[in-house]
Amino acid sequence: MQKGQISVQAENIFPIIKKFLYSDQEIFLRELVSNAVDATTKIKTLSSKGEFKGELGELVIDILLDKENKTLTIRDRGIGMTEEEVHKYLNQVAFSSAEDFLTKYKDEANIIGHFGLGFYSAFMVAGTVEVQTKSYKGDAAVKWMCDGNPEFELGSADKDDRGTDIILHIDDDSTEFLEQERIQTLLDKYCKFLPVQIRFGTKTETDYEGEGEDKKPIERQVENMVNNPRPAWKKLPADLTDEDYKAFYNELYPYSQPPLFWIHLNIDFPFNLTGILYFPKLNNSLEVQKNKIQLYSNQVYVTDEVKEIVPEFLTLLHGVIDSPDIPLNVSRSYLQSDSNVRKITSYITKKVADKLNDLFKKDRENYESKWSEIGVFVKYGMLSDEKFHERVGGSALVKSIDGKLYTIEEYTDKVKPVQTDKHDKVIFLYTNNVKEHHSYIKSAQSHGYDVIEFDTMIDNHFMQHVESKGGDVTFVRVDSDTVDNLVQKDETKESVLSDKEQEKVKELFTEAMGESKGAISLKALSPDDHPVVITRPEFMRRMMEMQAMQGGGMGEMPDMHNVVINTNHPLVADKMLKMKSPEKKVKFANYLHKLAMLNQNMLKGEEMSKFIEQSIEFLK
Ligand code: ADP
Repeated sequence: MQKGQISVQAENIFPIIKKFLYSDQEIFLRELVSNAVDATTKIKTLSSKGEFKGELGELVIDILLDKENKTLTIRDRGIGMTEEEVHKYLNQVAFSSAEDFLTKYKDEANIIGHFGLGFYSAFMVAGTVEVQTKSYKGDAAVKWMCDGNPEFELGSADKDDRGTDIILHIDDDSTEFLEQERIQTLLDKYCKFLPVQIRFGTKTETDYEGEGEDKKPIERQVENMVNNPRPAWKKLPADLTDEDYKAFYNELYPYSQPPLFWIHLNIDFPFNLTGILYFPKLNNSLEVQKNKIQLYSNQVYVTDEVKEIVPEFLTLLHGVIDSPDIPLNVSRSYLQSDSNVRKITSYITKKVADKLNDLFKKDRENYESKWSEIGVFVKYGMLSDEKFHERVGGSALVKSIDGKLYTIEEYTDKVKPVQTDKHDKVIFLYTNNVKEHHSYIKSAQSHGYDVIEFDTMIDNHFMQHVESKGGDVTFVRVDSDTVDNLVQKDETKESVLSDKEQEKVKELFTEAMGESKGAISLKALSPDDHPVVITRPEFMRRMMEMQAMQGGGMGEMPDMHNVVINTNHPLVADKMLKMKSPEKKVKFANYLHKLAMLNQNMLKGEEMSKFIEQSIEFLK
């Protein structure tokens, strides 16, 4: 047995390793299994090149748990190490790389993936680490042991098979890593798609024999294979069917609804990147499903925080990106300024835009059928990324109330003849609530106008975006003005009432409405329009909505609305004015105002009860 010292500065490294990244202790398993994968891949390569002529054997990596002896072993059938190599790789290379890593990032807990700690990460969970290894070169097997002091022992081992066993004698404060379930979870998280088969003991499978009452469960032990060594993203798109893509989605996110469509990323130059991005079913909610993209480096799981690599709006997508060209042992802030990462980001954005345009052009019907789900995403993307806006702007759709979908350009052409105002702006009339705006929509339609549905959270922002980009388009909600004025033209109707009579009408309503907040105005609308119409001016309403959305506007917001009296309506012009009793006139005006409020969904609580009672009284 030889003894030696790893390095002079070593006194401080083990305590640091132990404390470092305390919350991320679990990555030791990924690091060690990755080393085992590397060693296995190397022996395969040597064999295929003819440099290794022996039997390859079963190239499986075994994870062995021995609770009694408190050990966790990672066993590979890779190239192994000779004594000289153990010296070189474990005492020098691995050690100095761990040391480098630690001195560099001691104060930076923000390192993506924490790659680079390597072999020595074992000491985060193990007091003593034992390595037994036999090289493919045929040298005698070697045993290396280190108990966390800088001293190590090196001697001969009793090992016949080629490959390496890393035996971790788990610390008393890390006994969680002796639990079957914990290890299984970690393997699922970090090793699910490693390119070499990984086996973690056995598991029980239940089959059934016989039929009906004779049906009996038969339990049997089968090997518990952890990973899928050939995940879909590593295959060629031409070799995959739609079903394969969906099956892979299910493998990533069990029990979720099938994705809408997907993009297979595959590029070699100027950087290497593979992956599959899925459009999930969004169901109109932006927040819930974010951060589902997983980042891999050569099939080794790194992280599911991809904010620095994928533009914010694309984090709504699900799936996998795998790139060895994303620098991993760097801080997140560095990552954003890395030129490779910036190229990767714009590549992904472009691919997503291309896919959307492609779908739109090649299969519009299918695209339209999915619009209600991808619309949120497309709008969000257009709002947040100028380039994306330029790319997919032509594929963004608006939905007319009759269910038909148009691009912005198509829709502009469609409504232009009727809905151009005196300033030459094309007015897009919209509703955010078909039910509540029912009578306003009907009025608009009776004027030959078309109305579109803009009813998701994002639409408020989106329409301002379109207005600021488009130049000629203005959005106006159907209830923002009286129908004659929705599309402002230079036309005024004559009132059937004299100035004096109009004055009287105004007086009556002012009295009838009491302290109600609306501003009264008189207007000569069509006798077919409602006697009183409540409108919410577009500009004011938008300002208030903005305020509300930004969480401002503490306290109650003033309800800014206009009360427009239709002086051409027979109930106003004729019936009301002809009533004998002044009291009755006021009551009548009040009732007409209430009806208008009802139409705007403004009658609540006590006011509503009073209105009902009043109506019953009238009917008597
Ligand atoms: P890295 O893997 O980044 O090189 P590590 O600290 O993880 O750094 O390992 C250092 C070296 O030790 C490896 O480069 C490899 O040569 C050797 N090594 C580690 N684990 C194994 C193993 N299971 N089989 C063969 N060699 C190994």
